[in-house]
Amino acid sequence: MRPERRLAVRALRAAPGVLAAFAALLIALAVPPSARAWCRMTTSQLPAPFGMCPTGIPLEWHRPCSRYNIFADGSRTLPLATVRTIFETSFSQWESIDCTGVTVDGMPNLEAHLSASASQCDASAYVTGGANVSTIVFVQDWAARDYDSSAYAVTTVWHSTRTGEIYDVDMEINEDGHTYADCPAATGCADGRVDLQNVITHEAGHYFGLAHTPITTAAMFASSVAGEVGKRTLKPDDVEGFCTVYPPGHFDGVACNDTPRGGATLTCGAVDEGCGCSAVGAGTSTSALVGFALLALTGVVGARRRTRRAV
Ligand SMILES: [Zn+2]
Repeated sequence: MRPERRLAVRALRAAPGVLAAFAALLIALAVPPSARAWCRMTTSQLPAPFGMCPTGIPLEWHRPCSRYNIFADGSRTLPLATVRTIFETSFSQWESIDCTGVTVDGMPNLEAHLSASASQCDASAYVTGGANVSTIVFVQDWAARDYDSSAYAVTTVWHSTRTGEIYDVDMEINEDGHTYADCPAATGCADGRVDLQNVITHEAGHYFGLAHTPITTAAMFASSVAGEVGKRTLKPDDVEGFCTVYPPGHFDGVACNDTPRGGATLTCGAVDEGCGCSAVGAGTSTSALVGFALLALTGVVGARRRTRRAV
């Protein structure tokens, strides 16, 4: 999730006559004619044109339960107990969606469990054929990771390029450029601190495979003001997206097993040098486009690839 930019507002004040029409155009572009605004993350590495969803195979979990671990160092400003509570609350927004009225009766029955064990992996990584950990890490060396410097967080979704099945998800939270807080629910923060729950509710949407929406009030909108708390709660667009991907009964008869693919570990794991398929993006911060090129060169398209979402 990125900070909201305010430059357009200042420009409107400078020349209201000319820019009024421009503002009307922006509004028209921001509100799609269709009621369906939400999008899904896909296997495509190419950015979608504004207002359109990406092409490719949609990403989704193929099993109802998964597990994630918070890195041992936690946050530099928030106690670990507070961080854990915020993550539980943020994920529960999605897990407790009642799809009644959107599809049929019942709950989606999709669960992401916060493990009691601290992750020892401070980077996004996926090891094909080996044990894995979905790690949540507060990052102090953001610049060294080659991400958008203004981003609040980056969620990496590792998946099958053949089926779109989500294998593993890692979240990196930018504590280099931002200070996180548990802001008052009624007012938010007005001192420049970022509300962690506001950000994590959004990132949890990526965890489940949703992409950005043009609906500005929705949790899956791409940017927010630092102290905003409005995206702590899901909006109808978020709910419709989630309930469409994971309708009630979707996982009926599928056992709940949150063990990571390939087995559980708390460390990033060694890169599998032998198969050549795990060299790409395995714990590095190469860009998505670079990763795609390397995948093509090594001939392992179809193995797995990560889709990074800098919200
Ligand atoms: Zn995002």
